Amino acid sequence: MFNRRKFIKASAVSTAMLAVTKTSFANNISNVSSDAINKPIVISTWDFGVAANADAWKVLKNNGRALDAVEQGVWVPEADESNQSVGYGGLPDRDGKVTLDACIMDENGNIGAVLALEHIKHPISVARKVMEKTPHVMLAGDGALQFALEQGFKKENLLTPSSEKAWKEWLKEAKYQPVMNIENKLYDKVAPQKLPGNQYNHDTIGMIAMDVKGNLSGACTTSGMAYKLHGRIGDSPIIGAGLFIDNEVGGATSTGVGEEVVRNVGSFLVVELMRQGYSPEEACKEAVMRIIKKKPETAKNIQVGFLAMNKKGEYGAYAIQQGFTFAVCDTKKQDLVIKGKSYY
Ligand code: ASP
Repeated sequence: MFNRRKFIKASAVSTAMLAVTKTSFANNISNVSSDAINKPIVISTWDFGVAANADAWKVLKNNGRALDAVEQGVWVPEADESNQSVGYGGLPDRDGKVTLDACIMDENGNIGAVLALEHIKHPISVARKVMEKTPHVMLAGDGALQFALEQGFKKENLLTPSSEKAWKEWLKEAKYQPVMNIENKLYDKVAPQKLPGNQYNHDTIGMIAMDVKGNLSGACTTSGMAYKLHGRIGDSPIIGAGLFIDNEVGGATSTGVGEEVVRNVGSFLVVELMRQGYSPEEACKEAVMRIIKKKPETAKNIQVGFLAMNKKGEYGAYAIQQGFTFAVCDTKKQDLVIKGKSYY
């Protein structure tokens, strides 16, 4: 297996030699015996990834396609009313509107995304329709809604009484102050209604799966930052920022304050680092370090986490702050939750 040390050595040799090394890397990947590859496998962000992985696993264990697995997996948090940072029940923007962002990417480099989509419970499936049924890769706002309705999606009110109550509470001070790892706070069984209005914030489900054929796909879906400006888009629906898949190398996804991920084209960076021989965790760490280096003062007070898997089914994560978790489901264990390492 091509590792980072070998890559660093290779970097020191001539360009001609490097070209040879790159070819060997591609050969190494295709020469890995299928027994050595940990597949099928699905990984996703946060504790709520466990339930999402379980549904993705139903597809994977029946020899289904990774693309179907990630779509069906993220339906779980999208439909979960108690999850206030993804899909139905997501916290609204400052105007009280629930606007959803999602993207999906398959093993052939096909992509689809919806941005600031309102009234549709499963934005990931609209993103997939954009990918499969249109000549485009992204649809936003009213146009995305119009397309979804034409495709037969049901128009629904996504603002639940509990999220509306939290928003009204927030309006009293109307202070935009992202809170880190809110997902953990909710899953630590703090009753959501006991948290003050401004304690509700963000967290996204990003999922990467590899099917029995060894093909990779990914999905990323969120209601974004709570109480954001109407029309604000983060990293989650932006291919290369919130999600990136390269079927020769691996996949990556992100969660946290999207502005900093977009600035660094985070998920694309992680995949490119894995192409150079970094392990998934090393690649995630390097992407986090770019964010910290570029804006050290900002980084002190925000959370960003990256999660990645390579073509061998090895995975890893890294975050700015403690508290980032991810869920893993493979043939060995179906409900594993791992604490991501962090800079602080
Ligand atoms: N990345 C999301 C956004 O910026 C939020 C999150 O994952 O915490 O919209």
